[in-house]
Amino acid sequence: MKYALVTGGSRGLGRAVCLRLAAEGLPVVVNYQSNASAAEEVKAQIEAMGGQAELLPFNVGDEDAVEAALSAWQDAHPDDYIAYLVNNAGIRRDNLMFMMPSADWHAVLATSLDGFYYVTKRCLPKMMMRKHGGRIVNMASLSGLKGMPGQTNYSAAKAALIGATKALAQECAARGVTVNAVAPGFIETDMTKDLPVDELKKLVPMNRFGKPEEVADLVAFLVSDKAAYITGEVISINGGLHT
Ligand code: NAP
Repeated sequence: MKYALVTGGSRGLGRAVCLRLAAEGLPVVVNYQSNASAAEEVKAQIEAMGGQAELLPFNVGDEDAVEAALSAWQDAHPDDYIAYLVNNAGIRRDNLMFMMPSADWHAVLATSLDGFYYVTKRCLPKMMMRKHGGRIVNMASLSGLKGMPGQTNYSAAKAALIGATKALAQECAARGVTVNAVAPGFIETDMTKDLPVDELKKLVPMNRFGKPEEVADLVAFLVSDKAAYITGEVISINGGLHT
């Protein structure tokens, strides 16, 4: 059976993606780091709609933890594999560069960029071997395209993720595995709840933040058979807030 793995699937965009992919009939592996009750809620909601979900907690930025969790999952599922991978886990630790503690620089890079590397590298061999149209979707950001003041760490992580998306797409294309990035602008989640929403939404031509479900619809399209010929792309979803 072909499974979808969504990193950071317990809250925000990841949660919406888990629910959307489950609605498409995919069995979903919901990764999270620490918020077990939020993850349990996602699982319960998927099961209530008649879908299938499993929880798989690990820190995407810890190579040993990634290896241990995904090896254990594969051992428990000898006939299955992760065919659809959404690298969504990410954090913000905003600060002006000259005041940024090195721990905050490294934590942001570890989650978005190292996490992408560890999880994707672990899932890729099976996806490539099966030649059944594997899909990788990386959650980038407008910040990685444009650069945002106060986010040198986050912009660096997301810009690097975009570069990695384009390179890996070319490595995988002949096997029918697509690799794309989604670059949201401001979306209503826990990550943005401390921001001055009324001020920021004036910058958005649509005059509002996006909804997690709107991003999930885009991810579901990229995961679908209909997107088989799209690879190496970065698709913005930002209400017109262009670079
Ligand atoms: P969120 O509401 O803060 O949720 C973050 C999710 O990531 C949670 O499920 C969290 O798990 C998980 N997570 C964090 N660190 C992790 C780690 N080391 N290992 C495994 N899971 C981890 O964030 P969001 O707004 O949904 O953002 C999701 C992604 O979209 C991120 O990559 C973010 O950079 C990107 N993005 C968001 C926006 C926006 O406006 N919201 C815009 C552009 C891009 P726990 O529940 O266990 O903490």
